[in-house]
Amino acid sequence: MPISERIINDLPFLTALRHNLHAHPELGFEEERTSDIVAELLEELGIEVHRGLGKTGVVGKLQIGNGTRTIGLRADMDALAMPEMANRPYKSTVSGKMHACGHDGHTTMLIGAARHLAATRNFSGTVHFIFQPAEEGRGGAKRMVEDGLFNLFRCDAVYGLHNMPGLDVDEMAVVEGPQLASSDSWCITFRGTGTHGAKPHLGKDPITAAATFLSSLQTIVGRVVDPLQPAVVSACSLRAGDPKALNVIPDTVDIGGTARAYTPQVRDQLEEEIGRLARGTAAMYGIAVDYAFERRIPPVVNDPDATARALKAAQTVFGSKVRTRFPPSTAGDDFAFFGQQAPGCYVWLGNGPAIAGALHHNTSYDFSDDAIASGVAFWTTLVEQELGE
Ligand SMILES: [Zn+2]
Ligand SMILES: [Zn+2]
Repeated sequence: MPISERIINDLPFLTALRHNLHAHPELGFEEERTSDIVAELLEELGIEVHRGLGKTGVVGKLQIGNGTRTIGLRADMDALAMPEMANRPYKSTVSGKMHACGHDGHTTMLIGAARHLAATRNFSGTVHFIFQPAEEGRGGAKRMVEDGLFNLFRCDAVYGLHNMPGLDVDEMAVVEGPQLASSDSWCITFRGTGTHGAKPHLGKDPITAAATFLSSLQTIVGRVVDPLQPAVVSACSLRAGDPKALNVIPDTVDIGGTARAYTPQVRDQLEEEIGRLARGTAAMYGIAVDYAFERRIPPVVNDPDATARALKAAQTVFGSKVRTRFPPSTAGDDFAFFGQQAPGCYVWLGNGPAIAGALHHNTSYDFSDDAIASGVAFWTTLVEQELGE
């Protein structure tokens, strides 16, 4: 389907907006300027605006006709704490901060969709434009949910979109099932009884217990988790004793690490099995153990029904250039918290070839302006089909 003339005519405005946002990056929960711009642009369209969810979050509500279905579209607004090295006319004006993940483009495309839909009004129902703060590891989505996002704005389905270098700007990947991994942390403290290094029989050595635990840790992925299910368990921190006291067996050993999975079931399994191994090892050595598993970000798992709806819209816009097979990413996205509240689908929009090899979070990365029209066309088509009369 050719992209509508209305969207093409809006591109100079949207491109200028994208460059403006790119030049003024803001970190998570600090998106004051960005959210002011977003709120002002939505208000200009007569869209009802709600601010303050997740501190700097903005939600625009556009209700047309008497359709009862409601959907949410998510764009993230935050930048990263890293310098921009490439020279471009709209290079970051803030040292040590840059839009290296393309969230400037995500915000722009959702504004473009709001501008189009508020003018054409070719649907019946309610669309919520959700501008999320702090996607980059600072917990913006969770905060918005805790602040009542889905109580204030019921969503029958919620959609997220991320740019993807390597796919063409008129290409999209819409895939059912796992898209991004969970990202969790775990900590263990083995508590023995410290003693003289020459008299181990008078204490309880936690270091030997820690060594046994670590040498068995990979059996969780290798022997317990289904071999057809990806999973990662890594110990990334180990702390015990003092190199200046090599005749002292310490009281405690601290171990910490990360766990990644693509399904809630495997995620539960990792939490349980790491704890079981820790407690079993402690019991074997007659010492105590503390175990904590911190659930940070759940996996993003695309719902079958929401995915079918997104796929239909993508195929309408991109024809045969829609991939229904695409490898999941080992990164995480806290859109997962939205997907726990309503059937969700997270899609990848092409960003063109990686220029000079720069991928997400590279100091030269940039969202491609050529993808703006594609993204706006996808969002507007999705809404018109989803909330079709
Ligand atoms: Zn990122
Ligand atoms: Zn991102």
